[in-house]
Amino acid sequence: MKEFEQHLLLIPGPTPVPPPVARALSKPMIGHRALEFGELYAAVESALKQAFKTQSDMVILSCSGTGGMEAAISNTLSPGDSVLAISVGVFGDRFAKIAKVYGMDVDVLAFEWGRAADLAAVAEKLRTSGKQYKAVTVTHNETSTAVTNETKAIAALVREHGALLIVDCISGMLCTDFETDAWGCDVVVAGSQKAFMLPPGLAFVSVSERAKEAMVQSKCPKFYFDLAAMLESGTKRQTAYTPAVGLFFGLETAMELILKEGVDAVIARHKRLAEGVRAGVKATGLKFFMDEAHASNALTAILPPDGVDADKLRSLLSRKHSIVLSGGQGKLKGQIFRISHMGAVSERELLGALCALEMGLREMGYACDVGAAAHAAANVWMA
Ligand SMILES: *Cc1c(COP(=O)(O)O)cnc(C)c1O
Repeated sequence: MKEFEQHLLLIPGPTPVPPPVARALSKPMIGHRALEFGELYAAVESALKQAFKTQSDMVILSCSGTGGMEAAISNTLSPGDSVLAISVGVFGDRFAKIAKVYGMDVDVLAFEWGRAADLAAVAEKLRTSGKQYKAVTVTHNETSTAVTNETKAIAALVREHGALLIVDCISGMLCTDFETDAWGCDVVVAGSQKAFMLPPGLAFVSVSERAKEAMVQSKCPKFYFDLAAMLESGTKRQTAYTPAVGLFFGLETAMELILKEGVDAVIARHKRLAEGVRAGVKATGLKFFMDEAHASNALTAILPPDGVDADKLRSLLSRKHSIVLSGGQGKLKGQIFRISHMGAVSERELLGALCALEMGLREMGYACDVGAAAHAAANVWMA
């Protein structure tokens, strides 16, 4: 990277922090038991409910997204409970791992990476497992493969089965359509470092009335991640323990920006950016890793051309153009690269990234027209 150049971070978290949010992050500290914090808490909680499309209470935890996932499991379930973990990638597997750590009886319904969960297979599993699952976990937007699941339809199946639905919407919230209440989701987790345009460090968790009833029965040990304690403090517009106060300042500003644009408009913007990037990638002749029918609005997963090493391509783009892309996770390490278009990312930046990608591909021996990708993307964005 060049000394004078601000790098362009196109990874699926942390995402770029826009200047107004960065300024809010550096405000002087206030006490987290002060009246002023209560006002801040009330403002961000109400804004988060609009993003989640829920009337349920929210918990704001000072931790990364995984902490929110762990809280969702440890607060609503008990050791021995049957859980169905629907998995289409790394993050779907993570829910299964957490539930196993807490001693639950976990069935993993795994699908081929790059594809969305098959609804008929989910329905069949719920019908034929011979178990009454206490909870079903699902990843709305699987970041490792750039796939969005049909969570609305999955939720309907889970409702029919009579299980709790626990959703990892960490990279899906604000990028893809998502309706916590209308779809009947019980615990939904999002995180600050994705489309919320904040640094890592906050997890947002919505808790339905059904989930609250399950919390009373739960026998898992918990302390910092005790959602009942957090909900109780929330009634006093506080958190149970010292929160990441600086991130709350940033969250207030980020949510103002998001609500000013409108939650649905933010989602539509992500959809448009994704469509443009996919048109651009197609123009280079490269192939997607994910099934395009379930392609994510948040990021795009791409197979490198034959003879081009994905990680070498990424390091070239970082070194020469200060553009940072993600590689593959888990078994996809070295197999794919991913361009995130989540949060504070503009058309202008993506046009540059697509051109730089072609320059990098050319340098690595792949024949493509530099400019074709930007041209195709611009055509989508001008339409
Ligand atoms: C980023 C992400 C997480 C959370 O990861 P943390 O590193 O704990 O913040 C979980 N699920 C998905 C789908 C994600 O994209």
